[in-house]
Parts: sequence; structure tokens; C-alpha cells
Amino acid sequence: MRQFNEKHYSEGHRKKSSMPKLLVFLLFCLSIALNIYFIFFQEGCGKVADEVAAQGDTITVEEEVGEENEVVQISKTVGPGGFQEVHFPGLGKKQVKAISLSVQSSLTQTICKAISKEDGCELLAAYTDRLINSKFNTASELRKGDRLDLLMEEPSSNPGENNILAIRFQGLKVPHFATYYFRGPGWKYGSYFFEDGTQIFPSFPESEAPIREFSEITSLVGDYRLKNGGHSGIDFKAEVGTPVYAPFPGTVTRINWNFKYNGDCIEIDHPREGIKTVYLHLNKVVVKPGNFVEKGQKIGESGNTGRTFAPHLHYEIRHRKNKDKIMDPFRFKHHNTHHKKIPPEEIKTFHSLVKIYEKLLEM
Ligand SMILES: [Zn+2]
Repeated sequence: MRQFNEKHYSEGHRKKSSMPKLLVFLLFCLSIALNIYFIFFQEGCGKVADEVAAQGDTITVEEEVGEENEVVQISKTVGPGGFQEVHFPGLGKKQVKAISLSVQSSLTQTICKAISKEDGCELLAAYTDRLINSKFNTASELRKGDRLDLLMEEPSSNPGENNILAIRFQGLKVPHFATYYFRGPGWKYGSYFFEDGTQIFPSFPESEAPIREFSEITSLVGDYRLKNGGHSGIDFKAEVGTPVYAPFPGTVTRINWNFKYNGDCIEIDHPREGIKTVYLHLNKVVVKPGNFVEKGQKIGESGNTGRTFAPHLHYEIRHRKNKDKIMDPFRFKHHNTHHKKIPPEEIKTFHSLVKIYEKLLEM
């Protein structure tokens, strides 16, 4: 206290020609008043926003969407956790939430700042990463300040699952990327598509697909960025018991080795293609070492054995002489791939849905 007084005193003496004390006092009062005004002004705005989005309110927005600009109503009821119940024409009701983020050091860090771990931010980040990775490498091409808009479904409606309905990504280094979830009427599984209705992930033709029915691709080659180069295959999430086929002719070299990690598994040698293919976490193996298998022959069934978190088929390609050389099945020269398109009779529904997703991302 004494020190303070001394300082105050000495400053007063140093500035002999300082402005009158009254003026200083008035300026001080003005700054306080301005501060109070801004605090109240901001709180006032927040209050208005809260009132608009109060829990239980139903907001109906009429939007002109679709090819012929037909009017579609987007009805939202604001629920707990900021999730809103939206009625999607032809698809029913969903609890959704849109978040807009500025990318920081990583996608996980960015998303986990907006959504808690209990609400599954890590899973959400992993899925977001994988979807964006279909277009470019997030490990090297992400920049601080990139913009990420996410439309997600309420996690408890689908626990432990992918709940992303739409992603919009505007990067500083990469072109605009957007993908939308769509499950057409009568489809067993939905998938992610670009705005023009092209599926974001490639597909194998049925004749050379290791698995024909799967709900989604949950991991690509190189995912997770582990020490040893990351994930070594493609994971297809599939119900236990889904048939697994040999994509090329070859000879079974071994089955069920390293059960603790691989579960029931198969390795096939394909001399013509210069590779070995590997199938892990199977429920059933119907071939034996030494068996010759034709292209498209059933070799087993997908399962949930070994070290897995959910039923899936892990499909992997390695060089047949150098087992450390892992190849990406989607880029392997002997594998044909194509990008599926939403059939013409369903494309109109998809376009309407995209417009609603876009509108929700902006609300
Ligand atoms: Zn895997």
C-alpha cells in the first residue's frame, strides 16, 4: 500500500502539465460505461439467440429445393445438447446438429474442442478424417485455419457408429470438399457421395470383390499413422457370416496363424498377380492350405475374431516375395475399381436431401 502511494505521488510530480484531474475522471467513467454497455449488448444478443433456439421449440423453414424448385418444409424441434429433430422428406426424422469449426493442429484436437469425449469426439474425428482422406491426405495437407462444417446425427441413436450426415471442408491448400450420406429406398446400407451422386470410395466389380455386402469401409491402408506405416489393409464393416471370396485365382498358403490378433484367417498366393492376399477376423474358413481357389470362389465368412472392436473383414495385399511391401488394394494394378453412382430414379431424392443438408449446415 505504501509502495503504491509513493509511486502514485512520484508520477504526479513527474507530469506537472498533465490534463485536469476531472477530465481523467470523466474519461475513466466513460470507459466503464462503454464496457458495461458492450457486456449487456452481447448478453442481450445471446438471449435473443437462446430464445429462438429454446428447447422444445419447433421451427419450420420452407425451402425451395429440388430440380423443379418444389417447396420442402424443414421442421426442426430443438432438443437437448443442441440436437434438433428434423423431418427429412422420404427418410423420416433424425436428431441432428451442425457444427462449424476452424481446424487447429489436428482434426481430433479440433473436433474434441467442440464435442466432448463422452459424446464420442474421437470416433467422430476418426470418421471425418477417413472421409476427407478419400480425397486428399489429411496428414500432410491440412492447414491451421481450414474450415470444417459437420452435420451429425445424435450419437445415442446409433451408439459407437458413424453419425456423420454431411461434411463440408474448405482448405487453404486443397480444393473444396463436400460429402453427403445417402441411403436410397430399399438399400441395405447407405454410403457417402459427392454432390453429383458419385460415391466417394471406389468399389471393386462384384467378380473380384473380397466381400460384396458390407455396411461401410471403416479403415483404409495407412490409416491411424502407426509406427510401422499405419493400417495394412482395408476394413469392410460387415455382419458376421457375410461370404468372403478370392478376388484372383491362387493357392491357399496358410490359415489361422497368430489367432490372438488375426482370429480365423486365410492367406492366398497369387503368382500371376505377384501378390499374396490376406483375410483376417473371419467367422468361418472353408479352405485348407494347399487348396487351389478360383477367382470368385467362396473361401470363408467374415466375423469378429481376434483383436477387433466390431465385426469386419480386414483385406490386405502384400508383395508375394517381400512380405513387408504392402499394397493399397484400391490402387493395385490388377484390381479394377470404379465409383458407383446413385441410380437415375433416386438422384432427385438425393439432390433434395443435399439441399436440406446444406441449409442445415448454414442455420
Ligand atoms: Zn484392418
